[in-house]
Amino acid sequence: MLKLNDNFLRLSDSYLFTEINRRTADFQRQNPDKKVIRMGVGDVSLPLTPTVINALHSATQEQADAATFQGYGPEVGYKFLKQAIADNYYALRNIHFDLDEILINDGIASDIANFPEMFSDDAKVLITDPVYPAYLDSNTMAGKEITMLSTTLYPTVSEQINHLKTTGYQPDIIYLCYPNNPTGLALTFAELGQWVEYANKEHAIILFDAAYEAFIQDEDVPHSIFEIEGAKQCAVEFCSFSKSAGFTGLRCGFTVVPKQIADGKLLHNWIRRVCTKYNGAPYIVQRAAEAALSKQGRAEAIENIKYYLQNAIILREGLAEIGLTVKPRQNSPYLWVNVGMPSWDFFDMLLSKYAIVCTPGVGFGKAGEGFVRFSAFANRQLTQEAVERLKNNK
Ligand code: PLP
Repeated sequence: MLKLNDNFLRLSDSYLFTEINRRTADFQRQNPDKKVIRMGVGDVSLPLTPTVINALHSATQEQADAATFQGYGPEVGYKFLKQAIADNYYALRNIHFDLDEILINDGIASDIANFPEMFSDDAKVLITDPVYPAYLDSNTMAGKEITMLSTTLYPTVSEQINHLKTTGYQPDIIYLCYPNNPTGLALTFAELGQWVEYANKEHAIILFDAAYEAFIQDEDVPHSIFEIEGAKQCAVEFCSFSKSAGFTGLRCGFTVVPKQIADGKLLHNWIRRVCTKYNGAPYIVQRAAEAALSKQGRAEAIENIKYYLQNAIILREGLAEIGLTVKPRQNSPYLWVNVGMPSWDFFDMLLSKYAIVCTPGVGFGKAGEGFVRFSAFANRQLTQEAVERLKNNK
């Protein structure tokens, strides 16, 4: 008998997007004349900016000439991109890293999903619920003991930490994602500081997903966990160019592992792992990411972020028309809406009445039941059209 990894049997079916597509296709079949508007997707709609495109062109040209051709690059990423990250991403916020603490990847999904293998089999994992499903699935595959912490039941960080203390549960690994997918919530310096203090006290590690960092507008919200004192002792950070610079298709991100953690052993092991299991992100993509971090690249990216944030404002006003209040949020492309009924019932209602698709919150975890997620990543025209429908048909 082939000895398969039985942990895969513990995975729940990842049917969220399949089910959304099935119900949408059924609706479209029955209503061929209706134009469905998808307000659920987490993918960007704006093209890459001119500075990124120029960098792609010139890096491609380099590949055409034997004198500048690049073959295999460093598995951990080219120095030019690590330097751009150290200077234009971290040093701007007064955070300083050695270049070997920064590792380039092809987007953070794989690094996040591969990180559980850095820890012992009996390491206990805490995951907030609702959240991006990869944390739960990758730890399930790795056979870890997982506890979900409902941020619906315990909305504030104080309540969450108190809950851990009263139940006596002590996690070794804590996944945090802020601004959060799907809730859009961001943590202030003080709130994230509570997690850092807790992790240091309990000797836990925080795996911090900063995928939506670029959407942060509030002054009291940190962009990086390393803006918090003590975080270099207890946190690893995952940053992506996907949402900040539209790289969802191009694929580039970076993981930062401070050398302070476990006397440098975590960094050492992670580098060892990367060099064994990965052969590096493409040269031309890394040149594009470097360009995205240039002064001009960042200015262009900010314009795109503003566009999505404006979509979010338009959408929020539209939802108010049908009696759904969404707290004003300035730090996220997602609107997380309490719909007062099961998530899938609302999904069906919205589809049949308005031909609009949202994402049922329960797909992001049990604690997401009763909520749906709207995304501001659609283009402006579709966002406005969706809002018009809500206004006219209410
Ligand atoms: N983390 C979160 C919270 C996300 O929502 C996503 C993608 O949607 C990712 C990570 C994956 O990002 P990447 O495109 O860099 O793999």
